[in-house]
Amino acid sequence: MPPTADKHDMNPLDTIKPGVRSLRAYTLTPERGAVKINQNESPWDLPDAIKSAAARRMQGRAWSRYPDFVPVGLHEQLAEFAGWTADGVVAGNGSNELIQATLMVTIGEGRRVLISEPTFALYRQVATVLGGEVLSVPLTSSLEYDARALVEAVGRHQPEVSIICSPNNPTGCRIDDEALRALLAASRGLVVVDEAYFEFSGRTVVPLLHEHPNLVVFRTFSKAMAMAALRVGYLLAAPQLAREIAKAVLPYNLNAFSQAAGEAAVELYEDELRPRVARIVAERERVFTELQSIEGLTPVVSQANFMVVRSEIEPRKVFNELLNRVGVLVRDVSGYPMLGDCFRVSVGTPEENDQLLDGLRHIFGGRR
Ligand code: PMP
Repeated sequence: MPPTADKHDMNPLDTIKPGVRSLRAYTLTPERGAVKINQNESPWDLPDAIKSAAARRMQGRAWSRYPDFVPVGLHEQLAEFAGWTADGVVAGNGSNELIQATLMVTIGEGRRVLISEPTFALYRQVATVLGGEVLSVPLTSSLEYDARALVEAVGRHQPEVSIICSPNNPTGCRIDDEALRALLAASRGLVVVDEAYFEFSGRTVVPLLHEHPNLVVFRTFSKAMAMAALRVGYLLAAPQLAREIAKAVLPYNLNAFSQAAGEAAVELYEDELRPRVARIVAERERVFTELQSIEGLTPVVSQANFMVVRSEIEPRKVFNELLNRVGVLVRDVSGYPMLGDCFRVSVGTPEENDQLLDGLRHIFGGRR
């Protein structure tokens, strides 16, 4: 039986910071669908060539020994891969860990984080847990970054950190270089650009690292690199800044298996993974065009491997019908600000996308 607190006892929950108590947990209800297009993952599993290379590396090392204190080999590979310097790279247990580490070294009571919503919910979550204040600039009504409003907010509030997700999850919009330069120039604090989906846009802000010591770029292996199960991410920043952020990363954060797989994935990226990005981008364009032809649906242009779709039928209903009738699992994003009439679909394999489109035609067909 769990212990019951009598009224003279202290309630342990009173020790939790009020900002945390009032926060809704960041959760995802586990649902199963034959076609899983709800988490922006790669629709194809990691290629066997990469799995085998990682397994060979693991076979040859002692499992009884700790992994590298700092995965220097992986940092060097990532530096070459991304076009930056190895002492400005920090690998993490997923990019989530690096979001947390960056905010841990910058945010606390009386400190501010600027974000542009709707966006990835974790930024607000972590900043709030740390006791920081979250300032939010809405996207424009066409779900683009509002460059003027962002620069104005940065100038006025000078937040310790501004976070731009580009391409943005869940809307798929990208901040253009000119707007980002203006933001970097106006900001005395850090400007973080989360490039979790940059491969699908064909663009990166990494070259700006050379001119801007307050820029931090986050990347992940969970999307285009098809390795979400292994939790590998990395950040790129000026070496002095990377060293400070690394102080909040736990020792041995990257386990040996993930490190081995990360190295193998970078080595084999050109042959094994890059060609898939082009296929996903082509499918994204096809799905967008097909969705436009379904009356009652309006897809939003996206530069990522997913898109939000405005729906004249309630998103929850579309979600349920797709799951229960055709086994297609999408993401109901109607709880996000500005997205009350939206669901989000990740780009799947061509066959999966056809199943989605058939399901939607069926649901919306009766309305013509
Ligand atoms: N940033 C964004 C924008 C994301 O959408 C996600 C995953 N949903 C992450 C970071 C987290 O990625 P990781 O798996 O590397 O922790």
